[in-house]
Amino acid sequence: MKHLAREQLTIAKMIGIYCSDHHDTSDGILCATCQDFMDYVEVRLEKCPYGEDKPTCTNCPVHCYKPARKAKAKEIMRYAGPRMLLRHPLLAISHQMDGLRKVEHPGSLTREQRLPSQKKQAEPDEP
Ligand SMILES: [Zn+2]
Repeated sequence: MKHLAREQLTIAKMIGIYCSDHHDTSDGILCATCQDFMDYVEVRLEKCPYGEDKPTCTNCPVHCYKPARKAKAKEIMRYAGPRMLLRHPLLAISHQMDGLRKVEHPGSLTREQRLPSQKKQAEPDEP
């Protein structure tokens, strides 16, 4: 599985664990608040400047979450992290392995490395 898809799945599972234990929802279905958070996380992941090479969010040098969202993410990770090992051991271990990869800050990458998806839509040069 690709890093990005795995990260998304791992986070979805973590939010699922957190939500079912805190908000009395059943497995796989999130309450409105957690669904809203999941939507936010998905957008952040899609916009991640690293794309497929992204590190785990914990190890990422780019802080793309708003402070309130970041606090929420920490709360969810702290609760669901240890439980992931019991409920989804393979995902949890893969996620740990991903966490070992080192990445460069995007500031030290070239524009092409940073924005591979925008390479084709070349902006018009100065008139
Ligand atoms: Zn919830």
